Amino acid sequence: MKIAIIGSGIAAFGAVSKIIDLGIKGEISIFDNHQITEFNDSERENLYHLEDKNKTIKQIRKKNFSLIPPKSSYGLLPNKISNLLYDSNLFGGLSTFWGGTLGVFSPHDLRNWPIEFSDLKPYYSFISKKIFITRPSENIFGDISNIDFQEKIKTPFIVDRLHSIINSSSSQDGFIFKSGYPMLAASFTDLEHYNCEYPGKCTHNCKNHSTFKTYKYFNKIIKENNNIKYFNNAVEKIDTKHPLVYFQNGEKELFDKIYLCSGAINTSKILINSFNIKDGLKITDNGLIQFPIFSSNEFNTIKGFDNFSLTNLVIKSCSENGLSNNQWQVMQVYEYLFEYLFPTYLSSVKNKLYRALKDRVLILRGYTDHEESNIYNINKDKNSNFILECHKNSEKNKLNSSASSLRKILSNNNFRSIPLLNVKSKTSGHYGSSIPYKEGFFGVPINGELLKNVFICDSSVFNSMPSTSPTFTIMANAARTAELSFNKY
Ligand SMILES: Cc1cc2nc3c(=O)[nH]c(=O)nc-3n(C[C@H](O)[C@H](O)[C@H](O)COP(=O)(O)OP(=O)(O)OC[C@H]3O[C@@H](n4cnc5c(N)ncnc54)[C@H](O)[C@@H]3O)c2cc1C
Repeated sequence: MKIAIIGSGIAAFGAVSKIIDLGIKGEISIFDNHQITEFNDSERENLYHLEDKNKTIKQIRKKNFSLIPPKSSYGLLPNKISNLLYDSNLFGGLSTFWGGTLGVFSPHDLRNWPIEFSDLKPYYSFISKKIFITRPSENIFGDISNIDFQEKIKTPFIVDRLHSIINSSSSQDGFIFKSGYPMLAASFTDLEHYNCEYPGKCTHNCKNHSTFKTYKYFNKIIKENNNIKYFNNAVEKIDTKHPLVYFQNGEKELFDKIYLCSGAINTSKILINSFNIKDGLKITDNGLIQFPIFSSNEFNTIKGFDNFSLTNLVIKSCSENGLSNNQWQVMQVYEYLFEYLFPTYLSSVKNKLYRALKDRVLILRGYTDHEESNIYNINKDKNSNFILECHKNSEKNKLNSSASSLRKILSNNNFRSIPLLNVKSKTSGHYGSSIPYKEGFFGVPINGELLKNVFICDSSVFNSMPSTSPTFTIMANAARTAELSFNKY
């Protein structure tokens, strides 16, 4: 059997790990359009030397982010499509940059979907056996009974204080908040710190906080299995009658099964090419707002040992009328942010400021629910280049109401925010819903089979993009699709 996997990101990981688990005999070819080649772990091991770190920061600065730069892999950042959304064009896809925060979609999140939580549940469990997932608090996620977790993260007092304030708060202006420790696809070991997505140690006893990156998984399975091969070959389109892939270099190849795992944006591009769609497709991107909060309390016992560079807390916000659910992620400020903002000659100012703020400031990042998301139209211009146009810009009314209720609770408890410091971000990086199950132009069936033996495995098929982090569900749903592809309804 000849199997084509298009993409090497999270969706590809979900699909391939399931195909291997099923014991399918055959040739698995992974095709990726990666364009960035300076990508080699062994070259990075010394990047903790100051000189190299400065080079990395310089590389990030060139991209001109205003206040908070996105995560980067040693200066590498994903390209943008039409200067708006992150495009994905490297081995490992966006998993090379993501924050690793996981979430399980609740029945509320899945309310407009033709599949149910019980359809996904076994696959969340399957994925949790393949990757390291930190143990979350139980009160903020739904049914996590079959998921395998490892240890809980350690957080400093300022985070623990926020956690207890939120959980002892009563409802505020029609919103109820619950806080919990996150579920993270992370690793934190005492190994040499070479793959953190922040260029620089967060604390002097840095513990290698890094997220799961799929290129490591693929490197390993390609090395261990003769039947799995990787090709740097960009897909142009697929045939609409046969499982035939057309590549941008003019080659074509027939397969027994094709799995589209190129991410919502690129799967949409491939299908616009394949079906010659004139009106384009609509892609959803969760809107977000971010702002810092300052503690006026002194947490003077903190020595910074527990500073943790990924999401420290997840706060669920639910409106009492049941209409709005938002997710807030809580992060600490890291030395990296100051290194990015201050030129090297101001390093002593930077050091003082960082020391003064690191245990007093947290950053809150809130995500819109599906109804308030940004929607973009992806299409081709007259020169056949792909363009993105904003179809609906999120007004974030419900998310803003959630933010002001949260601010009130916090200001009664010695945490202040300064509205002027709100950081506007154009994109959350949570893309999907361009080819939803049983809806729209394609009406894809819930096994993801777009055409005979051609399956969509990424978040294009999501019927909505709830505020819950989507990527655990992308992994689980890709595994579900792969299993169903060998086990027809
Ligand atoms: C800065 C940032 C932070 C994020 N943080 C989080 C988080 O904390 N939690 C969370 O849940 N989500 C997060 N996300 C979102 C998460 O990264 C994505 O949901 C997830 O990585 C999508 O995986 P995917 O496999 O569907 O697509 P992608 O990661 O986009 O992978 C697509 C793959 O297909 C390849 N490809 C594309 N086009 C072609 C083509 N024509 N031919 C061949 N190959 C092709 C690409 O090279 C890539 O390897 C974040 C995203 C960003 C940008």
